[in-house]
Amino acid sequence: MDRSSLFPSYAPPNLRFTHGEGTWLTDTSGRRYLDFISGISVNTLGHAHPDLVAALESQARKLWHLSNMFDVPGQAELAARYCELTFADRVFFTNSGAESIECALKSARRYHAMNSAPERIEVIGFEGAFHGRTYASVNAAGNPKYLEGFGPRLPGYVQAPFGDFETLQSLVSDKTAAILIEPVQGEGGLRPAPLGYLEAIRALCDETGTLLIYDEVQCGAGRTGKLFAHQWSDRAAPDIMAAAKGVGGGFPLGMCLATEAVAQHMTPGTHGTTYGGNALAVAVGAAVLDHLGREDFLQGVRDRADLLELKLKRLKTAHPDLVEEVRGKGLLIGFKAGEIANLELRNRARDAGLLIGVAADNTVRLAPPLNVSAAEIDQAVDILESVLKSVGPSASAVAAALK
Ligand SMILES: *Cc1c(COP(=O)(O)O)cnc(C)c1O
Repeated sequence: MDRSSLFPSYAPPNLRFTHGEGTWLTDTSGRRYLDFISGISVNTLGHAHPDLVAALESQARKLWHLSNMFDVPGQAELAARYCELTFADRVFFTNSGAESIECALKSARRYHAMNSAPERIEVIGFEGAFHGRTYASVNAAGNPKYLEGFGPRLPGYVQAPFGDFETLQSLVSDKTAAILIEPVQGEGGLRPAPLGYLEAIRALCDETGTLLIYDEVQCGAGRTGKLFAHQWSDRAAPDIMAAAKGVGGGFPLGMCLATEAVAQHMTPGTHGTTYGGNALAVAVGAAVLDHLGREDFLQGVRDRADLLELKLKRLKTAHPDLVEEVRGKGLLIGFKAGEIANLELRNRARDAGLLIGVAADNTVRLAPPLNVSAAEIDQAVDILESVLKSVGPSASAVAAALK
């Protein structure tokens, strides 16, 4: 395919998918692939789920877009449902993860400015973090790879090592506005923050008047078997949370959720978005939540996550040289690859009919639809097994020799 009219920002494989159904994608030649990355943790209910198609079609016949200058049908209802199910009192709808982070960061600084502490602007982020590609979000994550060539770093962003509480404590000062953390790092290599660590950060924030912001763009929306990943603890609620990816099930939808103490200051004129939470997006978002909001659905996610984890651990036992460590939480899971590049494994899996992702630290990332079946998990792990076998001792010996 000729991609010369596109920005060269992406370099996809030479493959064209024509349609999807559930956990399966079909390409132009009619070949079917098992989709275990689901648009990077987005297609919560798989491709073309009938409930989401119906919600979108029905809304499309009524009303698409008004902008937020009018009351958008469905927005207040969806916000109220999310508030009922979380720590939040209010929701601001966006189109993406990065915009949800932008809203979170602005809300945090605004909170302090309105509470007579305008000097509290610093946001402490973590090594290995990913928060999106806008200026604020690349600065908040601090990954040098995403900052290079884009001018000076923005002031007010501080970096802490992930998992080291004492260093974090020493970084909090009278200039700190917020601590921003992913309860499970996705791009950073599928690293869950221990619940005790999140609880300690919550306590630190309470002691110092610092706001706690969670980035649950990837690990939220049921991915770990709770509606949001921090809900595995009942003592780690944030003040502000960014969500996106899975909450729209494939339709662009994001949310910044916050307590009343924070959200009350985001008065008319302080923030806005033209598309955010338009009628199509919230109609689909409501249909997604009809599934995610059910405890039996989340129990199913936990059961299948346990199955997938067990099977990946068996792969590690059988191929300890290639599967170094099983990582992640819930259906955001994978492994740190040993004597082979994660990209090589991803490509070989794709050739064998299984679509998977990668993440930092040579990690292989799986994020199947949350309604993936046990049989599909069996199939996917069988393919992975055959890929690992095909690598064989010779390839891993070569990789080891090259180290
Ligand atoms: C994907 C992601 C983002 C950015 O979301 P976009 O929709 O691409 O802007 C932010 N944070 C995390 C944790 C993500 O995984």
